[in-house]
Amino acid sequence: MAHPTDSIIAAMQTVTTEDKEVIRRAYDFAERAHGEEKRKSGEPYIVHPHAIATYLATIGMDRDTIVAGILHDTTEDTHVSLDEIEKEFGVTIRFLVDSLTKLSRLRYAGLERHVESLRHLLVATASDIRVIIIKMADRLHNMRTIEFVEPLEKRERIARDTMEVYVPIAERLGMGNIKAELEDLAFSVLEPARYEDLTITIKETTEEFNDKLEEDIRDLKRLLAENGIRTFRTEFRVKGVHSFAQKTAKYDGDISQVYDLFALRVVVKNTEECYRVLGIVHGLWRPIPGKVKDYLAFPKPNGYRSLHTTVITHRGVTVELQIRTEEMHQDAQFGVASHFGYKNRGFIKSNETASWIYSLIPSLKKYLPGNSTQSPRWLQELSAAEREHPDYENFEDILKKDFFAERIFAFTPKGDVIDLPRDATPIDFAYNIHSDVGDTMNGAKVNGKLVSLDTTLRNGDVVEITMSKNSHPNKKWLDIAKTVSAKAQIRAALRRSGTFESN
Ligand code: MN
Repeated sequence: MAHPTDSIIAAMQTVTTEDKEVIRRAYDFAERAHGEEKRKSGEPYIVHPHAIATYLATIGMDRDTIVAGILHDTTEDTHVSLDEIEKEFGVTIRFLVDSLTKLSRLRYAGLERHVESLRHLLVATASDIRVIIIKMADRLHNMRTIEFVEPLEKRERIARDTMEVYVPIAERLGMGNIKAELEDLAFSVLEPARYEDLTITIKETTEEFNDKLEEDIRDLKRLLAENGIRTFRTEFRVKGVHSFAQKTAKYDGDISQVYDLFALRVVVKNTEECYRVLGIVHGLWRPIPGKVKDYLAFPKPNGYRSLHTTVITHRGVTVELQIRTEEMHQDAQFGVASHFGYKNRGFIKSNETASWIYSLIPSLKKYLPGNSTQSPRWLQELSAAEREHPDYENFEDILKKDFFAERIFAFTPKGDVIDLPRDATPIDFAYNIHSDVGDTMNGAKVNGKLVSLDTTLRNGDVVEITMSKNSHPNKKWLDIAKTVSAKAQIRAALRRSGTFESN
């Protein structure tokens, strides 16, 4: 019998009977949970998780990722509990859904929050790279349907958040397809007039050269075949609008200086053939000096590999050639996600995850507020770990055992991250914000529920401190607090009020 998940399953590369059963069950569960809920477009809510799951299947993600994608909004928007998710789908799905729910609480609000969002994404990514891949798919569908969001200010906020947080991360993770689509969607919201202008320019230029290019490509294909390159395919791409805008700005608006508006990708069997194709291309058309880039010998920091050259064809078209193997092509489109499915289905190799995380860290530093010379302690410790373990073979282990295992990240209701040692309590949290907050606290809520002050905080908890002018620390707090700095501040307050005799 037909089922809405048939299209998701059809998009998967390999699929077992059990996969099918679990995905169907997850879909039925989510559909029940969302009930009458609607998207802003007026469609039933389930179209959103369905779109995400389809995308994840298309890029070759495993069953758990797809199931978590289907369920990702159920605990946020409905009455489903994480315990129920675990009972039905197991502990891995619980972890993925929980991580995604916590990420959805973060909202863009200026540079500082931006840093916090990035940090939190890093924490989630360190635990399981699939969290960020699902989050990207979620953001992509929300951006594809952003026209329905009202009012304009909200659309702009989401678009800015996309541009400032998600685009750089997609770039960093080598997810070229998502990055290009997200930045164009965000650009069209943030600068609609400029987007419109450039779109027209690109369209007109493409129409002007299209016929010539088609003939040029035919020439090249014939020549490649004559030279014994038999299994290859070509793919033509026009530069994205935002990417074109950035390039154009670099040349003060002179679009004739943008040499890579058109790119021809030649996908061949192996690395050796990449270099042979480069030679054949240069024999056929005139290369532009200084435009040959060997990203095979020197991959980009995000792992991108290809041979690039820019030529002027016989018919006078300037075009960039990107020569690569199928594997490199997959990597260029899906980045870290391409390591699932088609190579080693199921899980990314742990040292690959580690190297992605490792490579994320230096890039994070540039997002730290400029006026602060002191980077957060956790980042300093992490950098020290980086220096001490340059081989990064075991970097993931180091992160998990020596670093993340000892720290937790709790959040203020506004989404600021408070970095604390394990077993920290609301008292530590309050003093970490400010001594005045600690000195006048009279209660705490964790994830919306009132708790006692000796409650142990957990990673991802949202903590709200309530205060009153007449509240003061008492001696018991010294036993409850875990951090040295909170204890010191409590002692100081007790001494001021004369209730603590120092010895
Ligand atoms: Mn969602």
